[in-house]
Amino acid sequence: MSGGEEYEARLQAWAGRPYGERRTGQDPVNVPMIRHWVEAMEDGNPVYLDEDAAKATGRDGVVAPASMMQAWTMRGYAASVRDDPAGPDELTELLAEGGYTSVVATDSEFEFHRELVPGDRVSVEETVESISPEKRTALGAGRFVSTVKTYRDAAGEVVATQRWRLLRFRPPEKPAEKPAEKPAEKPAEKPAEGAAEPKALRPRPPNNLDNAFWFEAAKEHRLVIQRCADCKSLRHPPGPCCPQCGSFEWDTVQASGEGHVHSYVVNHHPRHPAFEYPLVVAVIELAEGTRLIANMTGVAPADVEVGMPVVLDWIDPDPDLSLPAFRPAGPPRNPEER
Ligand SMILES: [Zn+2]
Repeated sequence: MSGGEEYEARLQAWAGRPYGERRTGQDPVNVPMIRHWVEAMEDGNPVYLDEDAAKATGRDGVVAPASMMQAWTMRGYAASVRDDPAGPDELTELLAEGGYTSVVATDSEFEFHRELVPGDRVSVEETVESISPEKRTALGAGRFVSTVKTYRDAAGEVVATQRWRLLRFRPPEKPAEKPAEKPAEKPAEKPAEGAAEPKALRPRPPNNLDNAFWFEAAKEHRLVIQRCADCKSLRHPPGPCCPQCGSFEWDTVQASGEGHVHSYVVNHHPRHPAFEYPLVVAVIELAEGTRLIANMTGVAPADVEVGMPVVLDWIDPDPDLSLPAFRPAGPPRNPEER
C-alpha cells in the first residue's frame, strides 16, 4: 500500500465529487430498441409495444421497461472497446497507484421516478459516494467504490437514480513459475474397459432460492417443470417470475420424460476430469414444450441426431448430485450396455 495516511486522504477527497462528465444518450428512447430488449428478455408485458394495451392501464401510450434505463446512455460497443485517448480517469489512476488494478461490479440499486416514453432524451451524471477502507475479499484485498448515477430527462428532471458499487482490488500474485510440470488433468487416452470411475466431482450447478426445488426433485429422480400458477405457462430454466404474465406465483408439474433432441454438440476439448469424452451435450425438447440441457446415455456420440426421440434416464454422478439424462426412445435397453 502506497503512502499510508496521505494516500487515504487523497482517496477520501473523492467522496462527493463528480465522476466524469454528464453524458447524453446517443438516441432518444425509441420503439425499435424497446422491441429488441423485450424480445431478448422474453418480457411479454404489452405496455411496452401495444399502444391500446398501454392506454388501457391509464398510461398515455407505450413506455420503456424500467430495466432499460442504463441502455439509453450507453456509449455503444465500438466506443467502449476503443482505447480512450485521454487514458484512464484520475480516480482509476489513483486506485491503480494503490495496487487496485482489477475491477468487478458488485451491486446495482435503482430507484425509478417516472417511466420513460419514446422521444425522451436521457442523460446521466455520476458522483462518487464513498470509498471503503481496504477489505479482504475472496478475490483479493480491495476497496468498494460506490457511486450514484442520476438519470435526467431533457428538462433536467430526475427520472431515476442508481447506486452502483464496484470492488477495485489487487489481483492475487501469480504463483512463481514452476519448472515445466504438466497439468495432471490429462485423462488416459483410452480408459480401461469398465474401470476408472472419474475421480473428480462434477462442477456444482449453481443452486439458489429460485432453482433449489428443481435439483431437490432430481435427487428423487423426478423431472419437474416450473409452472405459472396464474397463466399456467411452463418455463425452464427456473426463475422467480413468469415471463408471460409477470406472476410470482408458481407450482410444478412432473414431466412425462418424453421428448426429442432439439440440438446437440459433442464436446472433445477442453476436458474436465469429472466427465468422459467425447461428451454429448444435448438440448432436449420435452413433450411438454420446455427445453433443457442434458447429457445422453446409451448412444454413441456419432449416432445422436437432431429430432431423435428420447426418453428420460437418470445419472447419479456423485453422492449428492442426480441429473436427468436422456437415451434414445425404443425397446428397453440391456442394462449392461450402459
Ligand atoms: Zn404466468
